Amino acid sequence: MNPRRRFLHLLAGCGFGWGLCGCTFGRFVRRNGSGRVVVVGGGYGGATAARYLKLMNPDLTVTLIEPRDSYLSCPGSNETVAGLKDMSTLVRSYDSLRRELDIKTVNAQVARLDRSRRRAVLTDGAEVPYDRLVLSPGIDFRWDAIEGYDEAASRTVPHAWRAGPQTALLTRQIRTMSDGGVVLITAPPNPYRCPPGPYERASLIACYLKKHKPRSKILILDAKTRFSKQPAFEQAWRELYGDMVEWISSEKQGRLERIDAVARTVETEFDAFRPDVLNVIPPQKAGALAETSGLTDASGWCPIDPVTFASPYDSAIHIIGDACRAAPMPKSAFSANSQAKVCAAAVVASLAGEPPPQPLLINHCYSFVAPDEAISITGVYGYSRNDGQLETRSAGETSPHGDRLREAIYARAWQRNFRTDVFGY
Ligand SMILES: Cc1cc2nc3c(=O)[nH]c(=O)nc-3n(C[C@H](O)[C@H](O)[C@H](O)COP(=O)(O)OP(=O)(O)OC[C@H]3O[C@@H](n4cnc5c(N)ncnc54)[C@H](O)[C@@H]3O)c2cc1C
Repeated sequence: MNPRRRFLHLLAGCGFGWGLCGCTFGRFVRRNGSGRVVVVGGGYGGATAARYLKLMNPDLTVTLIEPRDSYLSCPGSNETVAGLKDMSTLVRSYDSLRRELDIKTVNAQVARLDRSRRRAVLTDGAEVPYDRLVLSPGIDFRWDAIEGYDEAASRTVPHAWRAGPQTALLTRQIRTMSDGGVVLITAPPNPYRCPPGPYERASLIACYLKKHKPRSKILILDAKTRFSKQPAFEQAWRELYGDMVEWISSEKQGRLERIDAVARTVETEFDAFRPDVLNVIPPQKAGALAETSGLTDASGWCPIDPVTFASPYDSAIHIIGDACRAAPMPKSAFSANSQAKVCAAAVVASLAGEPPPQPLLINHCYSFVAPDEAISITGVYGYSRNDGQLETRSAGETSPHGDRLREAIYARAWQRNFRTDVFGY
């Protein structure tokens, strides 16, 4: 059976998988068991968790703590860098969660978790008590990983790996670069947020440059020797952009040794570059709150029980999304959404004194290679009979000669449906 048919077969054969996809979750709705659940972080993981906790048990008191009034989406941000979308299209509001599901939102940053007293302590000292806490703080950067590249350097040499001012800075630099210039993107080692993201970014910048500055070039200096959806990306680059995009594997250039943000130079073990626009995507780790709360391990990410997403260090805290270690699932918005639903079902079951369900988890990730052309990758994940850890049950990706026009239609539909599934509108 080909991968796509097997994927559909798995979904169709698994009522629970569909249930957690949002099609029907009637049999997981419980009114027995109440409690206070605090969700920290209103991104794709946290907003989905808050929404599904309330959908699965309307009697729960669910509080979502997030410092920003509205969320800025990373999915779609590469399109804004290429001038295909306005930044305003990235904004997601919490209004529907508040109004339609009675989720309390607290517009604040959590300074620390008082785990022994089960309280989230805000930066102004206020405390929010919980019976269960779901933590989805996203990523932070390893500022000590590349000599010369720290938070201060990112103010002139953007990473644009969190949507917002960084995205705007990179967009401006691409706009003001002269024709014939070189854009250099450094891609980080695994694991990191959105494995195909650097290559989607290169594709869409190429699309902009082909039209406005056709003598320019894009180099991708990679810390890896291969990357997500590689055959389909490389085929698309050849067909759409000729030799404008060049991918340089770590085998060829060695380690990225240092960056000089003022001179805008990059040195690797074997060479040196001075691009016109430099986009450094640094190595990553779990969001700071996870680390300061003692929920990470030596990897810098949070270990979890993959059935409940509970921390092995604290059974009242569940960690989902980019911050958790849920390999082989990639760190994506779709993975965060899938994990949030599984976690919500486990929290609801546990507060009702019942065992957690063991569903399948899903990731499906689209990348645009041009305004109307996309490619995708899919994975379905279940629990291993040997050790109970997550394993890939089925996987597939667009072939190099796949139908990219059709994939783009699916990708647009996914963006609309996904937003509704996470933010409720
Ligand atoms: C360029 C780019 C393109 C991408 N495209 C796609 C795509 O097409 N498809 C896809 O599936 N994924 C994509 N991703 C990946 C996706 O953005 C992430 O995987 C997803 O956002 C992870 O969700 P999360 O909830 O873990 O973290 P986030 O979405 O980052 O949310 C974390 C939230 O926690 C809040 N927070 C952090 N610390 C605290 C604190 N102390 N107190 C309170 N709140 C706090 C933050 O303000 C933030 O709102 C892309 C990423 C990038 C960079």
